[in-house]
Amino acid sequence: MAMKKHNFSAGPSILPQEVMQQASQGLLDFNNSGLSIMEISHRSKDFIEVMDQACALALDLLGLDSGEYSALFLQGGASTQFVMAPYNFLNNKAAYLNTGTWSSKAIKEAKLFGEVNEVASSKDQNFSYIPKGYHIPEDSDYFHCTSNNTIFGTQIQQLPETSVPVFCDMSSDIFSRVLDYSKFDLIYAGAQKNMGPAGTTLVVIKNDLLGDAPRAIPSMLDYRVHQEKGSMFNTPPVVAVYVSLLTLKWLSDKGGVSAIELINREKADQLYSEIDRNALFKGFANLEDRSLMNATFNLTDDSQKATFDALCKEAGISGINGHRSVGGYRASIYNAMPLESVQVLIEVMKEFERRA
Ligand SMILES: *Cc1c(COP(=O)(O)O)cnc(C)c1O
Repeated sequence: MAMKKHNFSAGPSILPQEVMQQASQGLLDFNNSGLSIMEISHRSKDFIEVMDQACALALDLLGLDSGEYSALFLQGGASTQFVMAPYNFLNNKAAYLNTGTWSSKAIKEAKLFGEVNEVASSKDQNFSYIPKGYHIPEDSDYFHCTSNNTIFGTQIQQLPETSVPVFCDMSSDIFSRVLDYSKFDLIYAGAQKNMGPAGTTLVVIKNDLLGDAPRAIPSMLDYRVHQEKGSMFNTPPVVAVYVSLLTLKWLSDKGGVSAIELINREKADQLYSEIDRNALFKGFANLEDRSLMNATFNLTDDSQKATFDALCKEAGISGINGHRSVGGYRASIYNAMPLESVQVLIEVMKEFERRA
């Protein structure tokens, strides 16, 4: 096998090495059944157990009560949630915070269903900061925000106080830090950033919300249908749910969200300290809004790009090119990223300075 790289990819992204080993075993022989997880019925006892455990563990890790909230594993990516949320809940108007590409896409879809009030936007500075002090009208059907902006490397540190239901796209920071998750009414996250492989989306929804819908909704896009059927209305993405469960168990064994947050903070602190110390680099995001998950930075002298890229390659660093809308570099340091890999990157940044 080739030497394992230090994988800083933004998504699909790194998974714990143990999880990949367990997953590969399950692909060959699931639970000593003589069958692969890929070839068993989703209605089998074995798979129903996987789904039930994944749902229960997701709520447990977020500190949410299973009587009050439901966890669903759906398909169509977070992008389908941009549609489902307003389809199910936008009666008249909704408030949206625009903090980047993904928020903008959510806004675009919501406009198909009703009035969208963009309460604030950081577009004026290429989404390098999180707007604060905006007003959320009380008569909004809900407020929607993106907790972590994967592309720009900003993260909401303080949620606004509001009496309207709060919806949040947590695709790139779910399970990464302690928050009062009971402040949210709807949370969704594509698995492929911080929870598992691509192919499923976790939706956590407050059961109270699941009353009358403002319009007729096709079954596949109706949260009530998926909730009533325990995410088994149609064939779920069995492999993606299985590997997500393995990742959630891994996280739980590590001590859960509070334990991983400490490690995430340590990784981010060390990396940002080097970005700030080393004169050859410049951080992209506003300091107080920096993301614990995606560190965005540029070279102060772009003509040195080939040199830095070569050093990274030599060290086995993969996936740190920035998104085209920011340029430069983006080191995604999700839960599964070991501190040691972050330190390899920091060493490379120091070596780059020595050679300059
Ligand atoms: C990646 C990402 C998405 C898009 O997810 P898909 O599963 O590809 O639809 C949406 N929101 C955020 C914050 C993301 O990082």
